[in-house]
Amino acid sequence: MLRSTCLFARITWTGPIVVLPVVACLALGQGRCNAGEEAAIVVGRRAAAAAGAGATAEHKFPEWSKVIEGTKQIDGLFTLYYNQTDEKLFMSIRRHQLEEELILPISIARGAGMMYLGGDTLNFGNQWIISFRRVADRILVVRRNVKFRADTGSPQADSVKVSYNDSIIAALPIKSEQQDQVLIDLGDLFMTDLADIGVNPDRSRSTWAKVKGFPENLEIEVAAVFNMGYRGFFFRSFDDSVADSRGAQVVIHYGLSKLPSSGYHPRIADDRVGHFLSTVKDFSKDIHDTPQVRYVTRWDLQKSDSSAKMPPPKKPIVFWIEKTVPREYRPYVRAGILEWNKAFAKLGFVDAIEVREQSDLDDFDPEDIRYNVFRWITTSYGFAMGPSRTNPKTGQILDADIVFDEGMIRYWRGEFLHLRGIPQAMSLLEQHHRQAFFNFYASLVPELADNGQALNQLFTEYRTSLNDPQRPPERPSRIVPEIGCQCCMMGAGMQRELGLMADVMAAQGTIEPGGKVPQEFIGQAIKEVVMHEVGHTLGLRHNFKASTFISLKDANNPEITRKKGMTGSVMDYAPANFAPKGAKQGDYFSDTIGPYDYWAIEYAYKPTSGNETDELAKVASRSSSPDLIYGTDEDMFLNPDPRINAFDLGDPLEFAQFRVQLLKDLLDKLQEKVVAEGEGWQRARDSFSRLLGQVGSAAYISCKYIGGEYTTRAHRGEPHGKLPFDPIPVAKQRQAIKLLQTEILSDQAFKFSPELLKRLAPEHFRDDFFFFFSNYEFNVYERVLSIQRMVLSHFLDSRVLRSIQNAELHAGKGQEVLKLPEVFDALTDSIWSELPTADKSAASKKKVEISTIRRNLQREHVKKLSNLVLGPNRDFSNFFFILFDDFGQPSPADARALARHHLTAIDVRIRRALDQADLDAYSRAHLEQMHAQMDKVFASTLKMNEP
Ligand SMILES: [Zn+2]
Repeated sequence: MLRSTCLFARITWTGPIVVLPVVACLALGQGRCNAGEEAAIVVGRRAAAAAGAGATAEHKFPEWSKVIEGTKQIDGLFTLYYNQTDEKLFMSIRRHQLEEELILPISIARGAGMMYLGGDTLNFGNQWIISFRRVADRILVVRRNVKFRADTGSPQADSVKVSYNDSIIAALPIKSEQQDQVLIDLGDLFMTDLADIGVNPDRSRSTWAKVKGFPENLEIEVAAVFNMGYRGFFFRSFDDSVADSRGAQVVIHYGLSKLPSSGYHPRIADDRVGHFLSTVKDFSKDIHDTPQVRYVTRWDLQKSDSSAKMPPPKKPIVFWIEKTVPREYRPYVRAGILEWNKAFAKLGFVDAIEVREQSDLDDFDPEDIRYNVFRWITTSYGFAMGPSRTNPKTGQILDADIVFDEGMIRYWRGEFLHLRGIPQAMSLLEQHHRQAFFNFYASLVPELADNGQALNQLFTEYRTSLNDPQRPPERPSRIVPEIGCQCCMMGAGMQRELGLMADVMAAQGTIEPGGKVPQEFIGQAIKEVVMHEVGHTLGLRHNFKASTFISLKDANNPEITRKKGMTGSVMDYAPANFAPKGAKQGDYFSDTIGPYDYWAIEYAYKPTSGNETDELAKVASRSSSPDLIYGTDEDMFLNPDPRINAFDLGDPLEFAQFRVQLLKDLLDKLQEKVVAEGEGWQRARDSFSRLLGQVGSAAYISCKYIGGEYTTRAHRGEPHGKLPFDPIPVAKQRQAIKLLQTEILSDQAFKFSPELLKRLAPEHFRDDFFFFFSNYEFNVYERVLSIQRMVLSHFLDSRVLRSIQNAELHAGKGQEVLKLPEVFDALTDSIWSELPTADKSAASKKKVEISTIRRNLQREHVKKLSNLVLGPNRDFSNFFFILFDDFGQPSPADARALARHHLTAIDVRIRRALDQADLDAYSRAHLEQMHAQMDKVFASTLKMNEP
């Protein structure tokens, strides 16, 4: 258990010792104190405090009654004095309220389009615990450093005191004083950039939007006005969500609330189960390897004392469906929330979660910490999120809201990422991975793909804008990738899946050309997203491995999916489920939570009676059951297991093959099926891009088997537990290589009819930001090459090459493994298959015609091999490489030797073709250029980093 007096000696109003390390040290211009200085400072503080105390009485503050004249008194946690006409808002702080710990939730009550998302919680995952402290004529707002603790009175407590400090985030002049209370002007606190947005609001134009007081909390809203004259890099060109950026108005909601009284029992986390965590460093704990104590975040759900067999909880978790939610979708929202009661019922809680619908009579603020609200907003970005507020000291969830953007159901106009063909299997989070990040931008702006300098400029510009003191108050984290963002992209992905569903239904004739997906299926998709987001609000993280728990065949058997779920967990990003051609269609979306969800809820919420540590260890030790497979966000890019993907289903390779086939099946007369009579042809471009994105996903998923390994989190001695690393059977890896050779590196997969390509019309209206991406040109070659480039970049990436070689060390005796020579052979064999082999007689007769797609691919292959031979050209001064390159981690020397070997072999075959084969003009020029280029590489090898 944590104790409340853990960090610093508590301070009283008139106490003789006022410990103000931060203030004192800052005054001395130092970041921290040593023991000698500490003693001196304390003596100094005593004198100052005594002087302050003596001086206080004599201070001539303006008279209390004069200051609050004309205001209305609002009682609550603190007494407020508000004058709406004069825009004055004062707060009185009583003596006993000083140093009291309070939680300060901050949200956006009304947003400014994509700049600020209405409903967004600004300090999600990092709740502020503050307190007020008096020093002479000021009230300091102290943000408590609650991440470090030790038991009061222990030697470690003194050590913690020396090492860590609170922060002072504001100093407010006292406006008046009477008896045991002082008065402050809340404008001094909330009409500033307290929310840490990055720029101060213009106080002359900002107003109080709402002021409410309750016994346990205050709820205050500021209609803050910002001058956003300069736009950030990402939004400069295409955001029209603010009428006039010189006076953008954002309503910021501040709550001020008491921390819940004691009685909550924190629960220690286990790394085999995916919960959000609250972590503190407890230096009193006798733990050998780390002082970190990690608590799962969860609600304080306790059984009532009723003697009933299945008693209701003392305090159920109540979700309000806000009146903004369209009526026709409310039943699905309700069902999605209540679905979780099944998991709680297994633990003996009946009706652990309640749903209430807000009526016009229910007057509450959704941002109020006492209300959990399901909200519906309209930014058209199609996302959903389920942020919660937790007590950072214990992990207790205090409040949770779900924000659901209606853009998800406008599936025909997908978000711009899929319009560029970004593989959906790649989550936004994963795009932070070095290579994937590069690919992401390269495919977003193809001109940058080969131009490192331009890419660097892009980054430099972005970074400069971040450091610019005049930077506008932009928060792009939930829209574009930003390192460390805790975004949930389930809704955005679901928008794409619904679009795909419309493509499939239109192509199959289930709906009219360009028709709508029936509401029933939209409702099912909403229910699935709601289950996912509610899972977040109950404390559960993503589980991107869970979709592998079912076979594609079983996924179309409702008897199985409605009982066990379509995926092992709704915390995965599940795609729409389509039956293979000729097979019976099952449910499109998961209708219920999966076995992993029951398990994760059991770990967090199971009431324990005996030794909790042992009981929980027993629960967690079931992690090796195939139904409970788990891998989360960071595993997307740090873990070599190819089963961790977003928007895949069943065996990943089988799924990849299936989605490539889907493209082929739907291409025939696609334009006529998705565009209704009388409509423009733009939808053909949307559908085609979306389908091409499926091929990108297939490539991406298959690539991960090369250099990949299965991993588990099983602990030692766990029943059926596997070891952390388990080599992928080589047959499976060869299956992945084969798929890539056949479907991606060949030009067979990319044969599109001129009748379709001639109808890929761009958007002509300039009324939304999609226009930014709507060139007339639809560059098929570039899009195909960006998918193929992803495969080459993966195969020949230094990290992957190292992994392949390292995996050899994990093979048991006699176990066959994939080795580097086989990987290099696989690429060369499929990419240069047109060229004659060593058989001279065959070569002399052979007619060689290399297609444009293949010539592009061959150029790329030579470029990548050449880079390997020549070695990296590092520029440590530049941001991009500092962040994303592996320092001192070059490709294995063997890989570089193999690259040279293959370049030489390819060159021999090229020369043979030039001498003997019957070549068309394009192919001859191309091969001559490749030969000349390789000659230069061979001649430049003296520049290699190694002798
Ligand atoms: Zn999520």
